Amino acid sequence: MFNLSGLSTSKTESQHVKVLILGAGPAGLAAALYAARAELAPLVLTGIQLGGQVALTHTIENYPGFPEGVGGSELGDLFQKQAERFGARVEFDSASAADLSQRPFKITTDNGDYTADTLIITTGASPNHLNVPGEVELTGKGVSYCATCDGWLFKDKKVVVIGGGDSALEEGLFLTRYASSVTVIHRRDSLRAGAVLQKRAQENPKINFIWDTVEAEIVGKGKVEAVRLRNVKTGEETVFPTDGIFIFIGHTPNTQLFEGQLAMEKGYIEVDDKMQTSVPGVYAAGEAADPTFRQVVTSAGMGAAAAITATRFLEHENK
Ligand code: NAP
Repeated sequence: MFNLSGLSTSKTESQHVKVLILGAGPAGLAAALYAARAELAPLVLTGIQLGGQVALTHTIENYPGFPEGVGGSELGDLFQKQAERFGARVEFDSASAADLSQRPFKITTDNGDYTADTLIITTGASPNHLNVPGEVELTGKGVSYCATCDGWLFKDKKVVVIGGGDSALEEGLFLTRYASSVTVIHRRDSLRAGAVLQKRAQENPKINFIWDTVEAEIVGKGKVEAVRLRNVKTGEETVFPTDGIFIFIGHTPNTQLFEGQLAMEKGYIEVDDKMQTSVPGVYAAGEAADPTFRQVVTSAGMGAAAAITATRFLEHENK
């Protein structure tokens, strides 16, 4: 699990820091490591999702340095320990407002106010919802957005995975540990996921596919019983019985707090190749600013770059 030991949640009046980092996923903790090693004593506010999305991933197989793969929460824990070793502080707190109109920048949380000479935004992204009838009502009652969290509840049961990307296949493969069958339902007739995952999923005897199909409704009284499907080519509707529905249809960046204050494109914070946003002294990294790569390794790299740029910015000001 993500390391909660030593995380402070105490009420603060107003704290000033040189580098404030919002989010404790790979981007935030890599930024913290670099800023700490530059002796800037960065403060990381974790947000609600401790460790970011990586902490919800069972195994990461493509982070360099771990030839056998590494557990997602274990990797998050290692990131945190490494940053703390050099003096980064990690607090369990979540920003509720941001004022980037003047320096120092002001961030408000339930626990108090923070002012910061520089701000590194690594708030990540949250899973998208299907927005169909039954989804909200049955979330936690068979509808899930996290196989690592909820997969064990479906031992010897039939589950459905929605989506055709890497997440859908990776999580679908994970679910075969528990479920008796995993049906991947995709809105097109070809997958978006990378070749390795495609091959592995297609070769797994527990996984089968339904193509060209979207979800019209999630059906069940008190728990998921079925999903109503519509074939996008024929228009035919069917009811597919299932015990669980895992939805992996992409993510939306968690950047609402900065709307109107930073330049954005489709919700992603715009950054240049030095991770600088439209406001000097504010940097962004990881999925909040990356519509393209969205990998653990690229997020960590962006976080490191943001911290290096912030360090140079402060050096220039002699801070
Ligand atoms: P993604 O690549 O954006 O894929 C989302 C999938 O959901 C697509 O197949 C999309 O269909 C489908 N979809 C979107 N909206 C839908 C809707 N309303 N109804 C039904 N289906 C819908 O998202 P992701 O799989 O979460 O991956 C995000 C990023 O993380 C990617 O860059 C991916 O490479 C990366 N990732 C990597 C790994 C890995 O390398 N092991 C693992 C997980 C994630 P279309 O294909 O038709 O657009």
